[in-house]
Amino acid sequence: IKTVVLITLLAITIAEVLTFVISKLFSFPYNTQSTPIIVFLVTLIITPLIAGYLIKLLIFLDQKEEKMFLLATYDSMTKLLRRQAFFKRSLTLHNKLKEEEKSYFVAIVDIDHFKAINDTHGHAHGDEVLINFGSIMLTIFRDDYIIGRIGGEEFAIMMDAKEETVQKQIDTLHRLVAAAKVPLNNGGHTQYTVSVGMFENKTPKIISFDKALSHADDALYDAKVSGKNKTVKKNVVYAETKPKSPYLRSRE
Ligand code: GH3
Ligand code: MG
Ligand code: MG
Repeated sequence: IKTVVLITLLAITIAEVLTFVISKLFSFPYNTQSTPIIVFLVTLIITPLIAGYLIKLLIFLDQKEEKMFLLATYDSMTKLLRRQAFFKRSLTLHNKLKEEEKSYFVAIVDIDHFKAINDTHGHAHGDEVLINFGSIMLTIFRDDYIIGRIGGEEFAIMMDAKEETVQKQIDTLHRLVAAAKVPLNNGGHTQYTVSVGMFENKTPKIISFDKALSHADDALYDAKVSGKNKTVKKNVVYAETKPKSPYLRSRE
């Protein structure tokens, strides 16, 4: 409203001046009594209509842009960051920690036997499991870390915290997942577990974010082959001893 009034006042001033100048330039009859009043009234009626419409349009565009941004940034199902947004933010944090020579943890979380959940109860129920897991992730990590859905049933967390804190939170993750019951249409429910691969990047100057994530992926592989439903932490590895796990590769 304030903007509309301002634009109207400005338009009236300009209209008055222009009318005066044009009538002088082209020697149009200019009635000092009625002309300014007519110009004033006409502008007063037209401007708020146009300005109001344009401002509405601007607000509309602004809201659309905000919506587009949210759609591009967040996964609509789990409300976690989408893969690209996760990498972008994590890389920014990695670079900051690299400057400060600080360490951080990365974890990759993968839902166990997810294909079987889909096959047994249907894709829609699989989606419900993902939604359930997303909300657990948000409950535990939202305030502190960067969390993303980096693949179908694969998630990643970048944790800028001490080992005890991270360990406690990962324990909580397993605990909340174990307690979660995802309702089925027939009145029953399903339960699920997750495997976690973790890696502490103590030297961000030497180990890139992608490399750290691939170490976490190796740890995830170990968690999977050693029985699932657990967290495995990979310690610094200076030389590859094992072929790269299929988990990261399958996404690329
Ligand atoms: P593992 O315990 O080793 O992790 O096995 P898995 O069955 O969980 O893993 P696998 O990679 O074999 O299967 C992942 C499945 O996830 C396959 C794919 O159809 C399913 N999936 C991927 N994205 C979605 C999704 O958005 N919704 C649902 N319902 N399923 C999805
Ligand atoms: Mg899986
Ligand atoms: Mg997987």
